[in-house]
Amino acid sequence: TAPEKPTEKQEINYSAQTNATNIDDYTILSSLGQGAYGLVKLAVKKNDPTQKKVVIKYVIKSRILVDCWTRDRKLGTVPVEIHILHSLRKTPHENLGDMLDYFEDADHYYIVMGLHGAGMDLFDYIELNNHIEEPAIQHMFKQIALGVRHLHDNKIVHRDIKDENVVLDQSTGGLRLIDFGSAAYLKPGRKYETFVGTLDYAAPEILRGNTYSGKPQDVWALGILLFTLVYRENPFYDIDEIMGRELRIPFVLSEGSVDLISKMLERDVDKRVNIHQVLAHPWLNC
Ligand code: ADP
Ligand code: MG
Ligand code: MG
Repeated sequence: TAPEKPTEKQEINYSAQTNATNIDDYTILSSLGQGAYGLVKLAVKKNDPTQKKVVIKYVIKSRILVDCWTRDRKLGTVPVEIHILHSLRKTPHENLGDMLDYFEDADHYYIVMGLHGAGMDLFDYIELNNHIEEPAIQHMFKQIALGVRHLHDNKIVHRDIKDENVVLDQSTGGLRLIDFGSAAYLKPGRKYETFVGTLDYAAPEILRGNTYSGKPQDVWALGILLFTLVYRENPFYDIDEIMGRELRIPFVLSEGSVDLISKMLERDVDKRVNIHQVLAHPWLNC
């Protein structure tokens, strides 16, 4: 098949080992994920002399929602997910997913990402480890928060922060927030209406159907994530609980962790901490 946008593709200037145009340029090794979202595969580029393993996310075009597309002079019409990953190439961050390349065919976009670790996400990690020490939780949570701060500072909201969307490299202890399929650019005065993401992690104001600005809802989801890391269970089990039940703390791991969790899971948007306040919290700086 002829490449559809050869000049634009060249302008992107991806590293020499990438710039594939076809899924057949890769040998698929195994599946990393398969479910509602589609497919994520472990692969290696056939003509790559280093035979470095990469991750390929198959995004089914027909499943991309109308407001998840964007137009750009360089990239043409692409999913916002690809646009944001592409923009992060100019300002990469060690705690965020990275896109090495992308290409498309009639039915799919293929997003080629670096493999970090063995392809384990934080959901699996929590399942496999029934006790995570407090310093390890602090270290993990801080990395995710640093990734989120980088996004917010670059006018991007993630909108689907959760354990499944964090990958972990057990050899280095490094964490990366991935999956920009629900992410969006912030613009002055821009508010979102549609509920995206995962119910368990949704802030009360989103469920109430209010418009929302993005950043405070990412912080709420971070609060759910930290609760899950500490207590291995969700703080709330249904919409009514999210909207109104007082936060129940199963046990006090430390005063600092409880204080930070309650400040992120603050129902009043105006009182909720922002990502800079999260990172300045004493519990993450002791
Ligand atoms: P979806 O938008 O469909 O949720 P994700 O981008 O979250 O797709 O990928 C689905 C799953 O695949 C993740 O939860 C994770 O387990 C795995 N995965 C995705 N990207 C990577 C990656 N770069 N490295 C390791 N695992 C990954
Ligand atoms: Mg995901
Ligand atoms: Mg997604």
